[in-house]
Amino acid sequence: MTAGAVSEVDSKFMAEALLLAEAAAQSGEVPVGAILVKDGETIAAAANAPIRLNDPTAHAEILVLREAGKSLANYRLPGTTLYVSLEPCPMCAAAIVHARVDRLVFGAADPKTGAAGTVMNLVQDSRLNHQLTVVGGVLASEAAVLLTNYGHSPGDLDLLIYFHSHG
Ligand code: ZN
Repeated sequence: MTAGAVSEVDSKFMAEALLLAEAAAQSGEVPVGAILVKDGETIAAAANAPIRLNDPTAHAEILVLREAGKSLANYRLPGTTLYVSLEPCPMCAAAIVHARVDRLVFGAADPKTGAAGTVMNLVQDSRLNHQLTVVGGVLASEAAVLLTNYGHSPGDLDLLIYFHSHG
């Protein structure tokens, strides 16, 4: 994984992503929140919503990329940083690569479907035509607490066991 420094700015945006994750949880979704930032400004923000929208692709990251593309009137999003409270799954990681996002900052690692270095690493695969700088573990314990408070599925349970054993 490419090393990247964690800044106060990263912590600030991750805290906002965690608020969105909490909102997702309150809607009965797995608590994940995402924010896309360019030049220090939030371009798009979303909470995980596949259950509410009856859409298996409505992960927070996908919703953020769609909103940002519309907002910037561009299908590529160079010069942006994506903040997400949980490590992206393969679907989202591929979408992030397609979007040409520069930098990915995530909170908790996902031992089941994490595609930014845990199960696989799609966002830094040299066989693909775009690689990102990745910073993981930003406010990870806060993200894990959210999953603890709201998680009910076996997948979430595995995640919790992972966090308890990896501190
Ligand atoms: Zn996803």
